[in-house]
Amino acid sequence: MITVKNFVNGNFVSVEETIEDINPATGEIIANIPRSKANDVEEAVHAAETARNSWSNLSLDERRGWLEKIANALESRSEDIAKLESLDTGKPIKLARAVDAARSVANFRFFADFSKDYTEEKFEMDDATNHVIFKPVGIAGLITPWNLPLYLLSWKIAPAIVMGNTVVAKPSELTPLTANLLAEVIHDVGLPAGVVNIVHGLGHEAGQTIVAHPKVNLISFTGGTITGKKVAETASPMFKKLSLELGGKNATIVLDDADLDSAIPEIARSGFLNQGQVCLCGSRILISNNIWDKFIEKFVNFIDGMKVGDPSSDESDLGALVSFAHRDKVESYIHLAQREGGEILCGGERPNLASPFDKGAFLRPTVISNLDYQSRTATEEIFGPVVTLHPFESEEEAIEMANCTDYGLAGSVWTSDLVRGKKISEKIETGMVWVNTWLHRDLRVPFGGVKDSGVGTEGGRWSLGFFSQPVNICVKD
Ligand code: NAP
Repeated sequence: MITVKNFVNGNFVSVEETIEDINPATGEIIANIPRSKANDVEEAVHAAETARNSWSNLSLDERRGWLEKIANALESRSEDIAKLESLDTGKPIKLARAVDAARSVANFRFFADFSKDYTEEKFEMDDATNHVIFKPVGIAGLITPWNLPLYLLSWKIAPAIVMGNTVVAKPSELTPLTANLLAEVIHDVGLPAGVVNIVHGLGHEAGQTIVAHPKVNLISFTGGTITGKKVAETASPMFKKLSLELGGKNATIVLDDADLDSAIPEIARSGFLNQGQVCLCGSRILISNNIWDKFIEKFVNFIDGMKVGDPSSDESDLGALVSFAHRDKVESYIHLAQREGGEILCGGERPNLASPFDKGAFLRPTVISNLDYQSRTATEEIFGPVVTLHPFESEEEAIEMANCTDYGLAGSVWTSDLVRGKKISEKIETGMVWVNTWLHRDLRVPFGGVKDSGVGTEGGRWSLGFFSQPVNICVKD
């Protein structure tokens, strides 16, 4: 049993009430974590405020050095990150190693390196020079979800602190263990006290208190669209700098010239990676009528062969969903799909697993066809191992179908004609589109959604811009 504490002002501190943390693959209680209240958040904000001046007065190079130290120390604990992330989320350990652990280290290393040139910009006039400098915003409130816990937390903490801000972060209470590991690493490397504070607890309590705190100047939130609205309702009238990275219902467009043998494993990955619990997952697959039968036969055969089970086994392609409540939600969408006339081509049920996984929140990967592309199942975010298949006649129809939801996060196009693929991508109303690949990430590029998928952009220089305040100093010659 692990005991998680808040990390405030460089110390691990207990709070009065605790919450149980459950391993969703077995139903066992694995940790107790703080249920922080307003006074606990207050202490963290006070620590962040006290550390603010000395941290922002360090040079950019000194702060970059701290990120390097954190990256190196995290890297030496990569296997611990993978094990804890798999235990906490139910995801396969091979995924936690390749994605969560690797990317968390990479986030610190990337922002340490990439920020080195983000110092000053100059704009010359005939008789004056404008010097644009980048100041810290102040205290950054960082709120993150459970699907990629340390991956997303480090994606925010690294640019926030390298630009001179101090941080109060609240991870999801469903997956607190790797945030706790990061606190240990930060403690071990000796980062100045108060620069990073981690407060555990419930969203409507600790999270809401951070968002509403008058001394927190900036909010970076990643989570669901409904929660994002609540965060915006609180933060916007307080004129806080705000970034909202929200949900998605991403379309995968398969054109009739796609090379199905190479595309299908990748399209399957885009639908079911992390049990379909990635905001970028392609959960609506739009298929040219010309290849509909061939695609379905090959795709369903592939998905049926995916192995669901013990997350610690390298054999498992899918692990457990993050919680029993979340599996209930996903199953309710499978029932809705049936009521909407959908035909389940594979999955749709819980797998038969041996003890202790018979008590876990597992679900077989599910493929559904025969649904109207505007049905609720096909337009609402399910965030689980469920994809729907829809035929189209023409490129125009595919684009119209891709754009028919309120979301606008990501998409992918599969074709042998790269010019055609790029042309279609330009017409998709999302923040990012991949052609013949998916979740192929260069950390320099912009990341963010349009429509109900969010406000603001992070990634590369967009993160550095968001976590800093540009100030223009115009000097007359
Ligand atoms: P969520 O329920 O919206 O929660 C996200 C975080 O916000 C959690 O830490 C949550 O705490 C906290 N929270 C809840 N209510 C709050 C409030 N009133 N004020 C401040 N914080 C509050 O989302 P989730 O279920 O954890 O994550 C799944 C969603 O995240 C999906 O919609 C997915 O698409 C989205 N997502 C988006 C991206 C992206 O980059 N666009 C990436 C990953 C995930 P509790 O856990 O205690 O409720």
